[in-house]
Amino acid sequence: MELNIVCIPGDGIGPEIVAEAKKVLNKVADKYGHEIKFKDILMGGASIDVHGVPLTDEAIADAKAADAVLMGSIGGDTNTSPWYRLSPDKRPEAGLLKIRKALNLFANLRPAYLYEELAAACPLKEEISRAGFDMLIMRELTGGLYFGERKTTTENGVRRAVDTLTYDENEIRRIAIKGFEIARKRRHKVTSVDKANVLDSSRLWRAVVNEVAKDYPDVTVEHMLVDNCAMQLVKDPAQFDVILTENMFGDILSDEASMVTGSIGMLSSASLNDTKFGLYEPSHGSAPDIAGQDIANPIATVLSAAMMLRYSFDLDQEADAVENAVRQVLKDGYRTGDIMSEGCVKVGCKQMGDLLAQRI
Ligand code: NAD
Repeated sequence: MELNIVCIPGDGIGPEIVAEAKKVLNKVADKYGHEIKFKDILMGGASIDVHGVPLTDEAIADAKAADAVLMGSIGGDTNTSPWYRLSPDKRPEAGLLKIRKALNLFANLRPAYLYEELAAACPLKEEISRAGFDMLIMRELTGGLYFGERKTTTENGVRRAVDTLTYDENEIRRIAIKGFEIARKRRHKVTSVDKANVLDSSRLWRAVVNEVAKDYPDVTVEHMLVDNCAMQLVKDPAQFDVILTENMFGDILSDEASMVTGSIGMLSSASLNDTKFGLYEPSHGSAPDIAGQDIANPIATVLSAAMMLRYSFDLDQEADAVENAVRQVLKDGYRTGDIMSEGCVKVGCKQMGDLLAQRI
């Protein structure tokens, strides 16, 4: 298979971690007989330095022409970098918002998985973490409260602010379909999270999810109120497979789910549109404090590349090979500084990439 991948190395540790993900992908291509064509584009501070803007139209055109985009991370030290003296629409993060919009990425996926070897970093009680967990939060990314009409007024000297939470059935249906499709690649369970006891938008959400569920009789669906879900994530995270939810609930729950894994350098993510196209990136930022020192953990980016193989290319066997390589490297006792524990061997970013590639 031919894989056309656009890479956005970005800023800070971005170029270092993307280089290691490419190394692992090249090994996958060698082993399984694929041809990968990489093309790098600039975004964020790297693009500001060269073009004066965080993302050019040419870079967007390159991304659109690819099968998938693999990104490192963008942005610098927000206190000291000159990029943050620019107006908000010229700063590094504006590039990210622009590319998400241009590519119509409405579904955000964030897996939260507890590796046995890293269980000590999990902040949950041992009796809970012992069961392990392997869930994926699917968050609607382009609708709801963050995109509804908003205004602040003053009436009779009293200030009033209004935000609007709207969803139409088509927006709900397309993300629900993604959620059920992805559950089919996992353990066939969807937990749809809403606040249907209070909100009309949630009642519509629940009704549409039930309609979509009829087309997926092999997937179990359950509905959970968001307040209960926030509790269940720390009480019994093993119960979850795919958590399907709207924009703001997903924003909060996905951060909670990542926290319970305890290791930011391990968390991948994907943003998808209604084709197979996706943008894949680690959940962490550009870590300017450790950039250029060959000490960043490349695993979140490597796992994002595995998600790309699975969701954009349907190469499940190859994605399994990458995820197994990560498990094996941890079993063999190799750690980057951020996940280091006693008795393990500390390695840098490049060496971690080599060790992962060797295990494909
Ligand atoms: P951050 O995630 O970059 O760093 C937080 C802490 O975690 C730092 O101590 C860092 O050294 C460490 N860390 C992060 N990733 C690591 C890795 N792979 N290996 C080892 N340690 C790692 O968050 P921040 O410091 O708040 O943000 C830094 C910059 O990143 C800012 O400009 C921010 O806007 C940007 N950012 C970008 C994205 C994105 O591109 N999607 C996401 C979040 C933050």
